[in-house]
Amino acid sequence: MPKIENQPQTKNPLQCHNCWEYWFFSIVNFPVRTKEKIWFIRLPRIQCKKCNSNSYLIDPDELREKWAKYLKNNPQETQIPINYILESSIDPEIADFSPYSSLWFKFDKFDYFFIPWLARQWNIGYLTPVFFDIEVLNNFNHSSDYKVTLTSFSRVHIYKNNEAILTHWFWVNRNWRLFCWLWDIYDELRWPENDKILKILLAYNIESDHDIVSDYYFNEIEACWTESDNEWKIFELKNNFEILFSKKFWFDLSRVNTLDDLKIPYKHPIWNDRWQIFDAYLKLNSAIVESINTNDLFSYLEQNLNDTTILFGKNWIRKQWLKLFEIFISNILHIESATNVISALFVLNDLRQLQWHLSQSSFDEKYLKCKERLWTIDESTDIQVFQSLIRAILGFYNQIFDSIKD
Ligand SMILES: [Zn+2]
Repeated sequence: MPKIENQPQTKNPLQCHNCWEYWFFSIVNFPVRTKEKIWFIRLPRIQCKKCNSNSYLIDPDELREKWAKYLKNNPQETQIPINYILESSIDPEIADFSPYSSLWFKFDKFDYFFIPWLARQWNIGYLTPVFFDIEVLNNFNHSSDYKVTLTSFSRVHIYKNNEAILTHWFWVNRNWRLFCWLWDIYDELRWPENDKILKILLAYNIESDHDIVSDYYFNEIEACWTESDNEWKIFELKNNFEILFSKKFWFDLSRVNTLDDLKIPYKHPIWNDRWQIFDAYLKLNSAIVESINTNDLFSYLEQNLNDTTILFGKNWIRKQWLKLFEIFISNILHIESATNVISALFVLNDLRQLQWHLSQSSFDEKYLKCKERLWTIDESTDIQVFQSLIRAILGFYNQIFDSIKD
């Protein structure tokens, strides 16, 4: 079995030796030259996009020595079997991945043998990544029979009648490809009742992308559990905060506790699609901003503030939603610079208002102002802006939770 030695100065064989970023893995056709001929051998290569370094997982110089030895002992041969080079009893080119391969999904056997820690002596092919075009999630999202839930930006569950179609989830890698494990799809989709799901997945199955760095890699390979980092986590924090809030102040801050409480189902943005992303802003704003219990919040502030004039705007109109919440954060929770702390929610609200202006000339200017407030650069894509906003809202809930828990 091919074995990749862990470099002593690195924590993980998929981490760059220079900068600790995670390598991108690929399989390249490496030219092998002898006096008589040239042929190509598939070799695993790793590349760091951060510091622009790259190398082969198997040292070509070592290979040259082995080639010379093999050719000396087998003068009649014109090509060297890769398992000889790898000192393996199994040739990855002809390894039998049955029964997992029987559903006809495309995959690259080399991923299994070369991506660190996937290969094992038993159950050959068990943990082989199978990749899909991420558009498959749109397909499921548009069907009333299925529901797509991202419990982190890279962890995906697809449900049919509230039951996950794969127990072990799907993952989104750094190239926005979806993947899961060959044994998993074999185990769960080989039954006739799952034929429809099998056909959909086969239609979106693509050649291997080789990258498996995602929550999966950290949680299961590095045994380092990553917390959710997306909308899912926002509602967990929001809920925790609001439970303590109710106990302390004797009223409920919000009418929405989870994304499932929304009348129109929430759909996670799947990729960099402006319509999907601004639709998500609309629903998040409805769940986080417009659900604020303005009446009780106003009454509480009216009874507990010395100066109640700050509760009114122009023409003595009562302030609402975020403006009241900001006053509460500043005057009751005593958080300094409340305006900065709550700004992520104001940006969410502004992005939601921008949804009405998507096709207007003023859109770019207003959108740029939102980007600046999230510290993202002008060139950021819509999905990058979305992720920055989610991180900012997570930061907001962490901060206000700390202020209320004592
Ligand atoms: Zn690097």
